[in-house]
Formats: sequence, structure tokens, C-alpha cells
Amino acid sequence: MRNRGKKKQPYDLVLYFDACASRLKPCTNSCRNNKEYMCRHRLRSPNPLIFRHSGELSFLHLSDFQVILDFIWKLTHTPPKLITPKTKFFIVTRDKNFLRDAENGWDAKRKKRTQPKLSFNQDLRVVQCNSFIIKIITTHSDSVVDLIKTINNVLPRY
Ligand SMILES: [Zn+2]
Repeated sequence: MRNRGKKKQPYDLVLYFDACASRLKPCTNSCRNNKEYMCRHRLRSPNPLIFRHSGELSFLHLSDFQVILDFIWKLTHTPPKLITPKTKFFIVTRDKNFLRDAENGWDAKRKKRTQPKLSFNQDLRVVQCNSFIIKIITTHSDSVVDLIKTINNVLPRY
């Protein structure tokens, strides 16, 4: 369909799916009103932006902190108007050690002057880079229903 110059709304939520995380189903013509169909429309978010560690980069097998940097790279290449101070950022992974491994990997690789800087808070399960505060969501289930529940549960509290 042609875009009739309708302005894009800012994203309230940006999700980045780690390679190991379950996938949401692709949207269809009738998904919007089908509560059983586990696509992005089941997320409790009016306008989410979804990235995935896949596609042209999947062969690289990014390490955990590289996944974070890939997410930040994608965020900095998103039109700034579409990201507001209210936008929330999440990485969804099945790896329960993701954030710890990311911090260890980052500490081992970075040099004093490495930019941008990442700062980790393992208790809050958060990593920050400049103005981006990214919360890590861990899911342990293969089920997309559980995945969406887990994400939706985190949204209002964050
Ligand atoms: Zn949908």
C-alpha cells in the first residue's frame, strides 16, 4: 500500500531479539483482531519497533556485548524523531547469563578510550549507553505465548 504522507508516530517501545530468543509470528491480513495469533499485535504496546540479531549479520555470531552494540547502532540509525524520552528499550534473550557475559566480554575487549561507553547494572539487569537505557528480558520457554506474556509483564513496571 502507498504511504500517503502519514506521519510516523514515535515508538513507545524498541525490542531487540537475541538470536536464541523465540520468534513472534509474522503479521497477516487478519492478525490484528485474532487474539490467539502471536504476532507483534499481542504486545501491550501501541507502536513497537522490533529488531532481530539475524539477517545479514547472523553469520558473525555476535558475542553478547556486540549484540548490545548492534542494538545501539540500529537505534542511532533510527530517525531521532521516532525515539522520545518515553521510549523504552529491551533486549530479549534466552541466555540467563547474557548481561554478565556481556559485561565480562566488554571489560576484556574495551580500551581506555573505547567509545561509546557501556555501563552495566547487574542488579537492575540494565545496560546504559549515552541516553539509551536497555533492560534485559530473559525468557526460558520455547512458547511464543510465554514470550509475549513475559514481555508484557515487564512493560508497565519499567
Ligand atoms: Zn499482527
